[in-house]
Amino acid sequence: NWELQVAAGIDLIPVGDFTWYDHVLDMAMMLGVVAERFGAGDQLDTMLRMARGRAATGPDVAPCAMTKWFDTNYHYIVPELSTDQEFKLSSNKLFKETREAQGLQVAVKPILLGPLSFLWLAKAADPKCNKLDLLEKILPVYSEILQKFVEMDVEWVQIDEPILVLDLPQDWKAAFESVYTRLNAVKIKILLASYFGDLGDNLTTAVALPTEGIHLDLIAGPEQLAQVIDRVSEYKIISCGIIDGRNVWRADLNKILTQLQPIADKLQDRLWLAPSCSLLHCPLDVELETQLDEEIKSWLAFSRQKLEELSVLCTALTVNKTQVQAQLDNNSKIIAAKCQSKKIHATAVRQRIAALDREMLQRDEYKIRSLAQKRTLNLPLLPTTTIGSFPQTKNIRHVRKLYKNKEISEHNYIEVMQQEIKNIVCKQEEIGLDVLVHGEPERNDMVEYFGELLDGFAFTTNAWVQSYGSRCVKPPIIYGDVSRPRAMTVGWIKYAQSLTDKHMKGMLTGPVTILAWSFVRNDQPLSATAKQIALALRDEIADLEQAGINIIQVDEPAFRESLPLRDEKQQDYLTWAVQAFKLATSGAKNSTQIHTHMCYSEFNAIISAIAALDADVITIESSRAKMALLQAFNDFAYPNEIGPGIYDIHSPRVPSVGEIQDLIAKAAQCIPLERLWVNPDCGLKTRKWEDIEPALKNMIDAVVQMRAKEETLAG
Ligand code: GLN
Ligand code: ZN
Repeated sequence: NWELQVAAGIDLIPVGDFTWYDHVLDMAMMLGVVAERFGAGDQLDTMLRMARGRAATGPDVAPCAMTKWFDTNYHYIVPELSTDQEFKLSSNKLFKETREAQGLQVAVKPILLGPLSFLWLAKAADPKCNKLDLLEKILPVYSEILQKFVEMDVEWVQIDEPILVLDLPQDWKAAFESVYTRLNAVKIKILLASYFGDLGDNLTTAVALPTEGIHLDLIAGPEQLAQVIDRVSEYKIISCGIIDGRNVWRADLNKILTQLQPIADKLQDRLWLAPSCSLLHCPLDVELETQLDEEIKSWLAFSRQKLEELSVLCTALTVNKTQVQAQLDNNSKIIAAKCQSKKIHATAVRQRIAALDREMLQRDEYKIRSLAQKRTLNLPLLPTTTIGSFPQTKNIRHVRKLYKNKEISEHNYIEVMQQEIKNIVCKQEEIGLDVLVHGEPERNDMVEYFGELLDGFAFTTNAWVQSYGSRCVKPPIIYGDVSRPRAMTVGWIKYAQSLTDKHMKGMLTGPVTILAWSFVRNDQPLSATAKQIALALRDEIADLEQAGINIIQVDEPAFRESLPLRDEKQQDYLTWAVQAFKLATSGAKNSTQIHTHMCYSEFNAIISAIAALDADVITIESSRAKMALLQAFNDFAYPNEIGPGIYDIHSPRVPSVGEIQDLIAKAAQCIPLERLWVNPDCGLKTRKWEDIEPALKNMIDAVVQMRAKEETLAG
C-alpha cells in the first residue's frame, strides 16, 4: 500500500495502516492496556486472545467486546480499562513500521489514535469511573511515543480524534486544550485529524489547539471549511479531505477544483489534500472488476483510483492545470454522461414516487388489526417462532456456488433448494414450532440476495471491505432508481407453505438495512433511495399475500446503527427511516401480521421510532442482557407484540428448559403474556443443527409447561 501511494505521487505516506486485527487494539497494545486474563507471553498471541478469545498458545478466555467504529460497518475491539489501570509503552510495532517506511526514502506520517478518543471508546470496568481521570497517567506514554518519533527524525505525526465530530459532554470538550498543550511540549508537528462528520460545536476548540495542522472531513461536513479558515491561525496547515473515503464514486474533479482554487490561492502551501477518512472503508481497485458493466465501472473510483484523483487535483493546483487537462476533460465527460445515463433514471419509478400519498403509510390501528389477525391466525398463547435462517450447511453453500458458476441448471438448483426447504420445514414441525420459516437456504446474504433481484444495483467480484478481523463484506452498489422487475421471494415461500398446515412466515430485508449495507447513491438523499426500495418491498408483500402468506417479517437489523452521530441529525433520519418501513408494510391487509426483527439491545434512544414502525410483532435480541432492555419497552408502554430472544444464538451453548422459563418469566414482568412471543435472538444461519435442535426443543418444552400452568391458573 505504501508503494501504491508513492507511485501515485502521494507526498506524505501514512504509517499504521497495517494491522493484524484492528487499529484500536494495536493502540491498546501500545499503551499496555491488556487485561490480566489475556496473560503475558507472546505479543501476537496476547493480541489475538483479546480479539478472538483464543490464540495459538495459552487457554481460551472471554475476548474483549467488539463494537461499531462510529457510523461505519467496521468493528473495533473495545479496550478494557481496569479500576487501577496503568499505562506503559508496550509495543514497538508502529516504530518498526515507521523505520520500514522510511526505508522507501519517502516522508512518513505515523498515525496514532488520540488519547481522548482512545479513552472515550474504551470501556471502564467500574462504570462510575471518570475516564478523564486517566489522562494524567496516559499522557506521559503519548509524550514518550512522540519523543521516539522525534528521535527517528519524523517530522509529522497524525493524531486521530474522531470524537470531535460527536456531541461531547462539556468536560470532555474542555479536556482537549490541556491534553494538546501537554503533547505540544514535544517538538514534533501534529496533524489533528477528525472525520465522519463536521466539527460542529467543537470547531472553536479544535482549531484553537496548539497543533501544526488540522484535517477535516469535507465530504461529511463541507460547510466547516470556511469557518475553519476564518478562525485558524496563520501558521496552521489545513488538510482538506475532499475525496470520499467511504463511498465508491468517481469524484467530480472539475467541481472540486473550482471550489478549491480560491482556497489554494489563499492558503498556498498551508493547504493539503487527502481522502476524507481512512481508505479502510473503501474497496481497493476498480480495475479488478472484470465482470462489471463498462458504463457503471466508469463511474467508480476505489482506493487506487482515489489516489490518482488526489494526484490530479494536486498537480492542477500546484503545478499547472494543462498538465492534467486530459484527465480533467475525461473526468467531466464521465460525470456528465452519468447524470444523463438511462441506467440511473427510471421514469416509472419517479412517477410512482411523485404520486405517493400519506394514506399509503397508515394501516388501521393495531387493536383492529390484532382482532383480524387473531381470527385468521389462531395462534396459541406464547407463540413460538425463529428469526428466519437455518444452518447454511456445506451442501447448501456448495450447490449455491455451483449455480452461481453456472455449473448446474436452474431447474436442478431449485430442486435441491426445495429439498433443503422441505427438510427445514419437517424439522420445525418435529420440534413443534408454531410459526415456521423456510430457512433462507437460497440467500448467502440478506442484502445481496435482494440487491441481485432489484434493478438499480450492481455487484462486484472483488470489492471487499473489512468488517472485523479477517471478515470482509462485499456491499452491493446502488447506482440507479430501484425497482422490482419480478417477485423475489414468492416462489420459495409459497413452496414452503405448501408443505405445512402451520403458518409460513414470508421473509424480507427492510429498506434501511438494504441501504446501510450497500454503497449508496450520492446524487440523491438517502431518504429518496429508501422510498424506492420500500415500494419494491411493498409490491413483494402484496404478492406474498396473494400467494396465501399471512405472516411477513421485514428485517431491520441496521435500523439503530444508521442513526446519525449528532443528535440534531437524528430526528430527520428517524422520520424518513420510519416512513420507509411504513411505506413498505402499510399496504398489508389487517389480517396480515407484519413482523420486524432487530438484533441489538440498545433501544432507549429510539424506542418511540420503534413504536412508530407499528409492526404487529417485533423480535429483538435480549438474552445476553437478561431481558434488561425490555425495561425500555415497559417504560414506554410499548403497545404491540414482542418476541424478546430467549436463546443466545451467538454461542453454541444449549440453554436449559429452566433457564428459558426464567427468561420468559422475566419478560412477562414487562410485557403481558398475551403480547409475548418466544423465539431465539437472531437467525440460526451460523449455527450447527446439532446445537440448535436441542436448544429449540428446550424452548418448546419451556413454553408447553408454561402454557399448561397458565391453563391451570385460568381453570
Ligand atoms: N432473517 C435473518 C436471519 O435469520 C435476520 C438476520 C439478522 O438479523 N441479521 O438470518
Ligand atoms: Zn438478528
